[in-house]
Amino acid sequence: MNLFYKNLTIWLIIALTAILVLNIFKGQPETVTVLTYSDFVHKVKDGIVANFSLNKNIATWQDSNGAHFRSVIPENPASVQNFLDAGAKIEIIPNREPNWFLRSLLSWMPILLLAGIWFFFIRKGSGQGGGGKAMAFGKSKAQLVDAQESKVRFKDVAGIDEAKEELVEIVEFLKDPTKFTDAGARIPTGVLLHGEPGTGKTLLAKAIAGEAGVTFFSISGSNFVEMYVGIGASRVRDLFEEGKKKAPCIIFIDEIDAVGRHRSSGAAGGNDEREQTLNQLLVEMDGFEVNDKVIIVAATNRLDILDQALLRPGRFDRQVLVPLPDVLGREQILKVHAEKVKTSSDIDWNTIAKATPGFSGAELSNMINEAALMVARRGGSVTMSDLDAAKDKVMMGAERRSLIITEDEKKITAYHEVGHALVAWMLPGSDPVHKVTIVPRGKALGLTMQLPETEKHSHSYSYLFNNLCILLGGRIAEELIFNEITTGSGNDIERVSDLARKMVCEWGMSKNIGPIVIKAADQPGTSNPLVSDEFIQKINSEISNLINTAHDTARKILTDNKDTMEAITLELLEKETISNKDIQAVIDQQKS
Ligand code: ADP
Ligand code: ZN
Repeated sequence: MNLFYKNLTIWLIIALTAILVLNIFKGQPETVTVLTYSDFVHKVKDGIVANFSLNKNIATWQDSNGAHFRSVIPENPASVQNFLDAGAKIEIIPNREPNWFLRSLLSWMPILLLAGIWFFFIRKGSGQGGGGKAMAFGKSKAQLVDAQESKVRFKDVAGIDEAKEELVEIVEFLKDPTKFTDAGARIPTGVLLHGEPGTGKTLLAKAIAGEAGVTFFSISGSNFVEMYVGIGASRVRDLFEEGKKKAPCIIFIDEIDAVGRHRSSGAAGGNDEREQTLNQLLVEMDGFEVNDKVIIVAATNRLDILDQALLRPGRFDRQVLVPLPDVLGREQILKVHAEKVKTSSDIDWNTIAKATPGFSGAELSNMINEAALMVARRGGSVTMSDLDAAKDKVMMGAERRSLIITEDEKKITAYHEVGHALVAWMLPGSDPVHKVTIVPRGKALGLTMQLPETEKHSHSYSYLFNNLCILLGGRIAEELIFNEITTGSGNDIERVSDLARKMVCEWGMSKNIGPIVIKAADQPGTSNPLVSDEFIQKINSEISNLINTAHDTARKILTDNKDTMEAITLELLEKETISNKDIQAVIDQQKS
């Protein structure tokens, strides 16, 4: 809950407490002596009553000294007259019935209100993943654990056939366990799906549940780890209890790395809560019987940081890689999602699949959805050009045409982008330039897009070196034309440094360092004990040598082709987005 609500609650509580306190003292502004009826009558006879007032049968009065009195008077005084005459002490008990309810309601109202507000905030807090979840404690996990019938089937998961094949067995086991137990086979109780975000891990887990027709429980690893020690562990216990009750079922734990990061790594001193949760998880998994018919499916994109204990036999001993789809896979995923929208008949899915290298299933599904949204505004069905626009939007972020850019900025951006594009154009072996634009998208003022001709699974030294040159091209173009450097190259430099460091430290691409992997220190802020200071200096100078060589190469290309660069930039400034063909045309014209 945000600060505003927090403050509001505090003030409400203060105000209500004040009302409550006032309510308690109200009605007794000064001391009032309550007299029985008989005493009252005697006082009247003694003649010491002044300021008499009667409300129903409650008489309030003051005596001549100013003292306050109250008595209850019988509704029918004649009925008690005999007793009075006999000198009896008479006390009338007021008939409070109708009043009683109202009065107690009034005095309880503030408390009820308080309780109501408190309840409201707890509900609100535990609903979405907000910070208020801390209030939900161990048991109230109803919103955290989501149990459902899964409608997803294997046919909805496209392009990752190997992963699917490995899971078919699990489905068969859930449907008919005896087949396996009779044969003495042991089915893994834990399956770990690992792969990049958006590759369909959650979808696969749902598909297993859907195919087998069992309940699908899901919880995110980060939900286990709360700020109170012990909650995570109790959640794990509850989750498994619940799972066993509803067996056969699938328990899906997303982002398991939030709990399962290997112990004694990361933040200094470790995290007690996480360790307890992880231990509880291990204990629960060890306590599993094959007959329990509960399969735990966990997902992560950080297999490397998981605690080894999680991967031991009997725990997550089946590990399935869910990779980014290849061209064919992308085509299949696109088709699965295209079934849900109206598409025109001339769409060539293969071409689109080729133009979307590195897209995950989630991005492809997002792309189809973007195209459908565009069409919804216009009417009709999704065409090739809708898909192309949607692809650009997913790949590079939405256009921000409303962003106000000065002419100078626009010019700098244009030269910058053409700098990238021209270096890429001139270096043999680099990915062809697909599109250059100076329409701001997402955070970028402009973009140069390259598309590989074929899917690459590994990269050569020269390809990576070219990439360094291309990344530096933007900044060099600015320098050549304006003799000035802007912040626009920040992201380029970051990528250059990262790539060069990997080339030297991870892929053994520097002759002077050789084929050796140099890892960063385990604990941030400490030095790697296996690497001497001189060696670190050597590494650093290797990295900067590599970058300097790339810089010189790119600079030479752009100085040698300055006229071409000017011509392409003019074209880009005019059209704002130019394609491979436009660049080719300008270059042809230059030659003639
Ligand atoms: P992950 O769990 O790996 O991060 P998800 O399973 O949540 O990814 O995928 C998000 C969405 O992307 C899915 O709901 C689905 O619409 C789409 N998607 C991802 N992979 C595929 C796939 N292989 N086939 C079809 N759709 C996919
Ligand atoms: Zn750039």
